[in-house]
Amino acid sequence: MTTLAIHGGAGTIPRGSMTEESYRVARDGLRMALAAGWNVLGKGGLAIDAVQAAVVALENHPSFNAGHGAVLNEKREHELDAAIMDGRTLAAGAVASARHIRNPILAARRIMDEGACLLLSGAGADDFARTQGLDMVSQDYFTTPLRQEHWQRADDERAGKLNRTRTEAEKHGTVGAVALDDHGNLAAATSTGGYTYKRAGRIGDTPVIGAGTYARNGVVAVSCTGLGEYFIRRCTAHDIASRILYGAEALDQAAETAIEELKEDGAGAGLIAIDAAGNISLVHNTEGMYRGKASSEGVFSIGIYADDFSTI
Ligand code: ASP
Repeated sequence: MTTLAIHGGAGTIPRGSMTEESYRVARDGLRMALAAGWNVLGKGGLAIDAVQAAVVALENHPSFNAGHGAVLNEKREHELDAAIMDGRTLAAGAVASARHIRNPILAARRIMDEGACLLLSGAGADDFARTQGLDMVSQDYFTTPLRQEHWQRADDERAGKLNRTRTEAEKHGTVGAVALDDHGNLAAATSTGGYTYKRAGRIGDTPVIGAGTYARNGVVAVSCTGLGEYFIRRCTAHDIASRILYGAEALDQAAETAIEELKEDGAGAGLIAIDAAGNISLVHNTEGMYRGKASSEGVFSIGIYADDFSTI
């Protein structure tokens, strides 16, 4: 059983204000990311390469909060987090607060492959990526007009000038992928700009192994989205693995319990997970979550809201 699941974050545009064009573009982004991952997995490739390929596609797409299209922090700058984990060996790599790496997930992968450390932050992460020959970009590359608007609304809110609550889409998002390959290997990858108006230097759950990202062969691969502080406190991704490994819980039960607990905490949250048998769980406690899955039969499905998940 070969399976792949992706997400583009739980920070979806509310249905009432989603234009036809934005809807089409976002679904197109999900479809392209699934195809990029499946292009690797469907040919007998490794789960780790498939999740990387899917996340690169999502980072390159402006609809999602990662790479091009990432949110702005309080200083109107971008600081990007990403992590990748190989369930075969528990090898992992991550970057936090990177500022100039075009595809942060590729830097995370190089860190993992090099193996000298696991998590690099700030200028150290950028320097490492540069010496590895990865594409480096100016901050402008990440910025889109929509993210500028979101920053402005957060600034208005802080100044007491916004007379409504900001939507999930205005606040946050993330992208991620999990996969089970033909050889029984699990892998996970996650990448994010964090949340709009976050403190400069703030690091979320995405690059924290066991919080926003986790993979272990024979157990599960998990990628999370939602306000990271909650996921770090609960070690959410690892908690799901523990529930399955030590508590013999079924994947759906473990994933739904984790999401329910985050809801009780007050966190809008979502996650995608695949277990060792190829079962897939795509859960969220928000109005929507950009998400998709592909299975060995070559069936692709994508959705954004609760009732639009469909085969494409
Ligand atoms: N988890 C991300 C963070 O806290 C944001 C999100 O997924 O919405 O950085």
